[in-house]
Amino acid sequence: MLLAATFTISGCDPLTAQTKPPTPPVSQDQTDDKPAQTPVQNEPNEENETQEKPVQEEPAKEQPVSKPTQPAQNEKPAGQPSQPVAGAANSLTVLVNKQLGLPDDFQPSNLTDDPNLPFLAGGGGEKRLMRGEVAAALKQLFAAAEKDGLYLSVASAYRSHATQTQLFNYYVQTQGETEARRYSAVPGHSEHETGLAVDVSGRDGKCAVEDCFADLPEAKWLAKNSHKFGFVIRYPKGKESVTGYAYEPWHLRYLGVDTASAIYAKNTTMEEYFNVK
Ligand SMILES: [Zn+2]
Repeated sequence: MLLAATFTISGCDPLTAQTKPPTPPVSQDQTDDKPAQTPVQNEPNEENETQEKPVQEEPAKEQPVSKPTQPAQNEKPAGQPSQPVAGAANSLTVLVNKQLGLPDDFQPSNLTDDPNLPFLAGGGGEKRLMRGEVAAALKQLFAAAEKDGLYLSVASAYRSHATQTQLFNYYVQTQGETEARRYSAVPGHSEHETGLAVDVSGRDGKCAVEDCFADLPEAKWLAKNSHKFGFVIRYPKGKESVTGYAYEPWHLRYLGVDTASAIYAKNTTMEEYFNVK
C-alpha cells in the first residue's frame, strides 16, 4: 500500500539521536512523539535533552521506503486543512494517521496535567497533558506494572497543533519538505495532538523513545498488558506497511478497554480494525 511508502520514523518524534536534525530555534517544547525535540525545556530523555537537538529518531535505516508515493496527505503542506478523520475528532476512537488528519483548530477536551503521574526528569509543559480518561487509565496501568516490579514514567504525551506546526515548518525551512516529512509528522497528523497518545518509558529513562526500548522488560510488559487498561501499542512490529510507521514499543494509544482488548485479541492495528485504509 501506498502508505508504506513513507515511513516516518516514528509517530513520535524521536528523540533519538541518530539522525538528528538541527535544533530548531524555537522556544517551546514541542515534541511529538519522539521528537521532543524542540528546543524545549523539558525533555524527557537524558540524552536528548541534553543535547539540544530536536531530534527525532532516525529515520533512516530502517526504512525502506522509497520516497513515497505519497498518499495524499503526506503531501499536504503544513497548515492546510487536513482530511477528515475517521469519526469525530474528539472521540476516544478517533483514527489519525498519515492519511487522516485532525482539523487545524482541533483542541482535545479535558486535557489534564495529573500531578500523580510520574514523568521523566525534565518533563514539563504541554507534553505533560493528556485527556483525563487517559491519565486515569495510565495510573492504573503504572500501578499494575509496579506490582510486577516495573516502574514506568511518561516521556511525552500531548502536543498541540501549534507546536507540531512550528516544529514541522522548522524542518521544512531548514531541510526541505521531503526530509521534514521523514522526521516529523505533518501538523494535524500526529496522534499526540489527540491527547490520547502517551510515550512511556522505564522510570530510569533508559532507551526512552528509542528503538532499544523494545528489548527491555518494560516494553514486553506493555505489549502484553496495556490493553487491559485501554491502550494499544499503536505502531506494532510487522505492521509498518499498514500504519505507515516503524515499530514504536513505547507509543501507547488510549481507546478504552473494549476496543483495545479487541485489537489486542486480533493482533491487529487500528487501521485494520476499523477497516480504514
Ligand atoms: Zn508517541
